Amino acid sequence: MNIPLFVPTYRVDECLAEIRDCLEKGWTGLGYKTIEFEERWKEYTGFQHAHFLHSATAGLSLAVEVLKMTKGWKKGDEIITTPLTFVSTNHTIRYHALKPVFADVDHYLCLDPDDMVKRITPKTRAVLFVGMSGNTGQYERVVELCKQHGLALILDAAHMAGTRLHGCIPGKEADAVVYSFQAVKNLPTADGGMVCFHEAAQDHLVRKLSWLGINKDTYTRTNAEGQYRWLYDVEHVGYKYHGNSIMAAIGLVQLRYLDQDNAYRKQLCTWYEQALADVGPAISVIPVAPDCDSSRHLFMISAPARNELLALLNENGIFPGVHYRINTAYRMYRHARGQCPIAESMSDRIISLPLHLRMTYADIQTITNVIKQYVNNL
Ligand SMILES: *Cc1c(COP(=O)(O)O)cnc(C)c1O
Repeated sequence: MNIPLFVPTYRVDECLAEIRDCLEKGWTGLGYKTIEFEERWKEYTGFQHAHFLHSATAGLSLAVEVLKMTKGWKKGDEIITTPLTFVSTNHTIRYHALKPVFADVDHYLCLDPDDMVKRITPKTRAVLFVGMSGNTGQYERVVELCKQHGLALILDAAHMAGTRLHGCIPGKEADAVVYSFQAVKNLPTADGGMVCFHEAAQDHLVRKLSWLGINKDTYTRTNAEGQYRWLYDVEHVGYKYHGNSIMAAIGLVQLRYLDQDNAYRKQLCTWYEQALADVGPAISVIPVAPDCDSSRHLFMISAPARNELLALLNENGIFPGVHYRINTAYRMYRHARGQCPIAESMSDRIISLPLHLRMTYADIQTITNVIKQYVNNL
């Protein structure tokens, strides 16, 4: 029996019932369930604002654009970011003619605040922090430094659905927090994302930008009184980035189980940690920051001769992943290579072991036994 990296799990009957509501009502688009999902997400996180989109990539792009517009950033202004992330994170800076400036990562594989400070220039406008694997890393120090240096803060929380820091959902200090509900994330729909702005005016603006710059959504219009419900203005050259009610319907069900699902992920990680406790110094488990109750999106280890271990795991029907190759290994970011030695070396060492809700204690033993066999042969 193969053990894949990710297997999304859905409460099928509950999802179908929510989707049925949409189909029977004849409302599958923007509005209706998208609004309900935004309301539930605000209750769950405690954020003031939340706007549902078709992806986190759209959310990050709009976060950058809205902050650029409202804060008057110029072409060529800089955002400090991590090179160890899904390319989506850094593409969204480039979409808006801004420059991603890479800072190195720490032992949590999150942005290292000490290295981040060294990258600040007169053109720096913001920091983009990625909560790798659900971990908050040294997020609080990054928040302090952003305040001190007058920088905006965007939190790429694609891995962080359900993460708590000191018992609370982190991100209230950030200008924008962006979640992913893509198919393999902790709250899987098929594709979806949420952007949560701190400022009401920015939330208002993003709702227009995500629907072509139109200043009223269809649902509001259909429910408005009078003969002018068709009338709207177009205030911006916006995008078609908003989410739809079918995805929100799935999201509503998944959200009910998010904490329960994350608790099982945590259990699986504890079993991994116990099984790897005596494996020796060759393998290290990427730690979770103190006071962080991680969503445990990924369980990551660092290993020498990583590709050989991957091959051995594959031979045994185990299919881990790598999150991520350093972005400067890609042609589009190659110009910036050599600036982040820790990220560079970790990029060749990290493995994300299988982690999903259908796994059992026995699966963890199978996987960790292969790792032990590999270490013994080193
Ligand atoms: C998945 C992911 C994204 C993009 O999310 P989508 O919803 O697929 O657009 C961005 N950043 C990180 C760190 C991710 O893992």
